[in-house]
Order: sequence, then structure tokens, then C-alpha cells
Amino acid sequence: MARKPILVVGSSNTDMIIKLDRLPRPGETLLGGEFITAAGGKGANQAVGAARAGGRVTLIARVGRDMFGEQAVAGLVRDGINVDYVFRDKTSPSGVALIFVAKDGENIIAVASGANGRLTPAEVKKAKSVFSDASVLIMQLETPLATVQAAAELATRAGVPVILNPAPARRLPDQLLDRVSILTPNESEAELLTGIKVNSDAAAARAADKLRARGVQTVILTLGARGAFVAGDGCRQRVPGFKIKAVDTTAAGDIFNGALAVALAEERPLLSAVRFANAAAALSVTRLGAQPSAPMRDEIEQFLKAQWHE
Ligand code: ADP
Repeated sequence: MARKPILVVGSSNTDMIIKLDRLPRPGETLLGGEFITAAGGKGANQAVGAARAGGRVTLIARVGRDMFGEQAVAGLVRDGINVDYVFRDKTSPSGVALIFVAKDGENIIAVASGANGRLTPAEVKKAKSVFSDASVLIMQLETPLATVQAAAELATRAGVPVILNPAPARRLPDQLLDRVSILTPNESEAELLTGIKVNSDAAAARAADKLRARGVQTVILTLGARGAFVAGDGCRQRVPGFKIKAVDTTAAGDIFNGALAVALAEERPLLSAVRFANAAAALSVTRLGAQPSAPMRDEIEQFLKAQWHE
């Protein structure tokens, strides 16, 4: 078990999902859907992914003073996550994602970021003491970029490695990339950041090189069912994914990042950490939902014992 805490800075949302035969058209009211709520938000998903994978986790986030925020925080507490730095916004509501999913898997999603948009550098600085004690910091891009930058700077000053999952995709300044120990884009995020279409291992290597030239130490490019391509000092190879029956890929990347942080906090070698993350993410793909799909440490270890490489 990792003793030093894993620090996550990021978003917390409530996903409200209606499953329908087909998507409604503008102006149309469709009856007959099934309604599901699930805890989500990339920051909270990664925190839960890390906690269930065996990490001690502190989350820095912001929710509203409403029922959704209360439920989200209660869920984090159930997973043993330290919520001392989950701030309550007096005016903005908690982040919410409204999701329609059709039978054929097509979806429409709208996100109201609410309080997540008001997680400022000042909040991160209030949590300064937890940076010095952390084993690793994980972030994503559902909170303001200035906040991500401020947290990256605090971590660097404290000698804490920074994992940045650059999702949702957006362009990033070199000033931030320069502070990133491990960048974990998926194929489309890597394409947006580099202009390189990641359709082969060779293309993944080229995209990773381009990102490393901009200051990132190590790139772990996630490739869905194919696993992840790792490019760091003295290492350039794909770690194959595991063969499973895919049910719902929501949050696969989040679970991958959470589990990766745990393995690195335990000082596993990089390739073995990526294999552990591939296993946790593969298990999550066999289940519905974001946080509900995150596997426990025991399950990951049993799965790894029972598997063969591709
Ligand atoms: P994202 O969810 O961010 O789009 P990916 O689709 O690359 O990211 O998935 C992240 C990780 O989840 C992959 O690196 C892999 O370990 C795992 N994964 C995703 N889809 C599958 C799948 N169909 N089978 C096995 N593992 C998968």
C-alpha cells in the first residue's frame, strides 16, 4: 500500500443519464426513457480509481452547496478519500452532466461545470501543506487552466511528480508541459496536441517525441483496447491491453490514470505500472458507469494473475 497520499486536483460532477431507444430531436419530447444518476467528473473519477486500486487519496475540488454536491462528497468519503479540500461554493451549483444515450450507443452530452469553474489557484494554495507530503499529483482539464498551472508549480517546488491527463482535449502552453512528469493523452487528445494522427505504434512514438520536445518527461499514450504506448528516457514501447468483453468505455482513461498513480506511488517500474493501469482500466470497461465501474485492488490483482498478454 502506498503510504504517502496521492493528490488529485480536478472536477466533480453528477452524471444524469437517460437511456432511450433513440436520441430526441430539437423541440421533441420523447417518453419511455430510463433514468440513472452516477457520480462522475474526471477529477473525482480518478480519485475513486486510485482509492479503490489501493491508494491513500486527497482530492482538491469544488462543489456547490446543493444535494448533488453533498451526494458526490458522501460517495468520495465512502471510498475513503480525504475531502478536507473539497470546497463548497456559496453561489455556483455543483457540476452536472446531462447525458442522453441511445440504444445504438450514440450519445448527446451537455456539461454545466458550475462550481468546478470556480476552483481557483487561491484554493489550491490553501491546500499547500498537502503538496509537500504527496507522492504524486494527478490532474485533468475540467477545471480552469490557471488552477492546473498553479498546482503544477506547487508540486514542482515540493519535488512531487505531476501526471497530467490532458482531457477534455485542448491546446496547452509549454509553460505547463514543462512541469509535467507524465502526460497521458488518448489518441484524439494526442492528435490535437501534436497534429499527428495516432494510427500506429510508429505514429504514437512520433507524437510522444513531439510532446517530449516541448518539455514533458514521459508520455503514456492510451490506445483503447490496444493498451498504451510508453515513451520516456530509454523506453519506447507499447504495453498491450487486455482482452475483455467491452460493455461501457466511460471513464476508462480516468481509471487508467488513478491506477497508474497508485502503482507509481508504490515505486513500481514504469512498464509494470502501465500494465497494472491497463488491467484496472480493462476491468472498468466490463462495467457500466464512471465511478461505479472502478475496480478494487483485489480484483485487479486477481485479474492480472489470471491473464495472458495479447
Ligand atoms: P479514454 O477513455 O480516455 O478515451 P482510452 O480509450 O485510450 O482512453 O482507454 C484508456 C485505457 O483503458 C486503455 O489504455 C486501456 O488500458 C483501457 N481500455 C480502453 N478500452 C479498452 C478495451 N476495449 N479493452 C481493453 N482495455 C481497454
